[in-house]
Amino acid sequence: MNSYDTIIIGGGAAGLSAALVLSRARRRVLVIDAGEPRNAPAAHMHGFLSRDGMPPALLLETGRREVEGYGGEIRRGVALEVVRCGADGFQVLLEGGERLGARRLLVTTGLRDELPEIPGLRERWGRDVLHCPYCHGWEVRDQRLGIIWNGPQTVGYAQVVRQWSGEVTMFAPKETLTNAERTQLLARGITVVEEAVDHVVVQDDRLTGIAVDGGTVVACEAVFVPPRFVPHVDLLLRLGCEVDDSGWVITGEHGATSIPGVRVAGNVANARAQVITAAGEGSAAAIALNAELVDEDVRNAVRDARHGVRA
Ligand SMILES: Cc1cc2nc3c(=O)[nH]c(=O)nc-3n(C[C@H](O)[C@H](O)[C@H](O)COP(=O)(O)OP(=O)(O)OC[C@H]3O[C@@H](n4cnc5c(N)ncnc54)[C@H](O)[C@@H]3O)c2cc1C
Repeated sequence: MNSYDTIIIGGGAAGLSAALVLSRARRRVLVIDAGEPRNAPAAHMHGFLSRDGMPPALLLETGRREVEGYGGEIRRGVALEVVRCGADGFQVLLEGGERLGARRLLVTTGLRDELPEIPGLRERWGRDVLHCPYCHGWEVRDQRLGIIWNGPQTVGYAQVVRQWSGEVTMFAPKETLTNAERTQLLARGITVVEEAVDHVVVQDDRLTGIAVDGGTVVACEAVFVPPRFVPHVDLLLRLGCEVDDSGWVITGEHGATSIPGVRVAGNVANARAQVITAAGEGSAAAIALNAELVDEDVRNAVRDARHGVRA
């Protein structure tokens, strides 16, 4: 028996936005959420029109209240496994052993940010160690900013961060930058320090500098580093969902996956999704999901009518 029309795994911006649309469409909806949204370390969320500067936890608390106001259910918990149950839908196994059935699944489990192994970096994450200049660049504008090299994409990233400050230092290990890259960085006034970063210097609970091999400390007030994005796709992989060579779910329109009846939204399939984008993707996926459910309801009604069953 399917207790729910849709189970949504992940109650961040993507999952709650989908739940709001589906509960307002009078669908039986359950959100299962482990309660660890990606932007939790940040005190404020930026770039969400009409919500700029709101604490991330307050956005989600408000969203949960709205969903529950329309009869949507939200549970704190971890989904461990998802299995297909014939043509009827899916079963979700929760930590603790409970199994719940649904006609459709929406997976909005987000991603994990993997940072370079540099002492002190993780502890300052979301405070003065940042990754997204669109989220936090304004707050550190005109400050002394460091950029820590973490793969070839870091050079273009440094050029973007330069938009927010004229005092940018790029830290890259020896022999990683090409001559052309160095020329481009210097041309825009970005200082280049070609040494491996040893650790982050913190005084009075504030980042004050970056120490490089050899002991030199370069003063910085904030540091940007592009993380490696690791999507939370284990449930989808075990279900047989197709992913690309880099491990990202292959999606069609409105988050459709290779498994009929399973959609995704937000960072789990789109590393670039901001909070507002994730919420928008959740909403679009929910509308597509509801359309599928309506088609199924029509087919079932016709079949029942043929067998003389009244709706
Ligand atoms: C430090 C930091 C600051 C940021 N600041 C901003 C900002 O200012 N503005 C902005 O637009 N964006 C910001 N972002 C990006 C923002 O975090 C993402 O855009 C947003 O969180 C994506 O929403 P989501 O719903 O896809 O994923 P998430 O918000 O990460 O939500 C996923 C949820 O799924 C849950 N989950 C995962 N696996 C399971 C499971 N198996 N069972 C049950 N639940 C599960 C997680 O615990 C989590 O609660 C920031 C990111 C970081 C890292």
